[in-house]
Amino acid sequence: MAGRIALVTGGTRGIGLAIAHALRAQGASVAVVYNANEAAAQKCRDEGFLAVKFDVGDFAQCQAAVREVETRLGGIDILVNNAGITRDATLHKMTPEAWNDVIRVDLTGAFNMTRQVIEGMRSRGFGRVINIASINGQKGQFGQTNYAAAKAGLIGFTKSLAQEGARAGVTANAIAPGYIATDMVAAVPPAVLDKIKSEIPVARLGQPEEIARCAAFLASDDAGFITGATFAINGGQYLLG
Ligand code: NDP
Repeated sequence: MAGRIALVTGGTRGIGLAIAHALRAQGASVAVVYNANEAAAQKCRDEGFLAVKFDVGDFAQCQAAVREVETRLGGIDILVNNAGITRDATLHKMTPEAWNDVIRVDLTGAFNMTRQVIEGMRSRGFGRVINIASINGQKGQFGQTNYAAAKAGLIGFTKSLAQEGARAGVTANAIAPGYIATDMVAAVPPAVLDKIKSEIPVARLGQPEEIARCAAFLASDDAGFITGATFAINGGQYLLG
């Protein structure tokens, strides 16, 4: 992967940060995107990452920021659409804002970002797009109609993009993590988390690095025949054929 340029949205914390480290360990130059948490971003800068602040839900911001990153690092070869949020509520209590916020960041964010880099990838004959979906986009989850819809949408997006990119050397794959020990999961009430853990056959949460290793392989030159796939990394919690 030496010489490749990678951009990881939501790369300053949690799963995205682990992916940024894994890509850099394989020789890529990595930019990370964040939205608000300056302390986490500064830590990334101190570690030598190019950290850029913008909202992946805003097309114009994505356009300007990707141009800036490409000016500084070069054309983006590897895009990891990892930024995501939750706004949980059962549907009968869900506000339009909670619905729209999640769709805008978790699903439209992937369009907004991929649209900026896809033409360059196609013209250079190489690209890797990795979308971080979720187990809950595969099986559904009480209180997450917005999030599950966005994450299931990402899987359809991935399959379609894979078909469009194949001839041009651009692969697109999704990873559907189960429950991973990050700030997002730390926000789940302890009683709910205990119940979730009891449903995971390996009897623990996953670690961000366990997602990052898969993402780094999918980003590598060796993974050119893998496209349109969704990788369930969930400790056996939900098994698909
Ligand atoms: P975290 O909440 O720990 O980190 C989220 C990251 O996304 C942060 O860097 C945050 O920036 C960034 N971000 C959020 N909104 C935006 C935005 N609008 N524009 C740009 N950046 C944004 O998340 P996780 O590491 O837990 O999750 C990463 C991905 O994995 C998400 O898509 C999530 O849905 C998915 N996932 C997570 C699971 C888990 O168990 N943790 C399970 C399955 C899927 P800032 O720091 O500035 O807020």
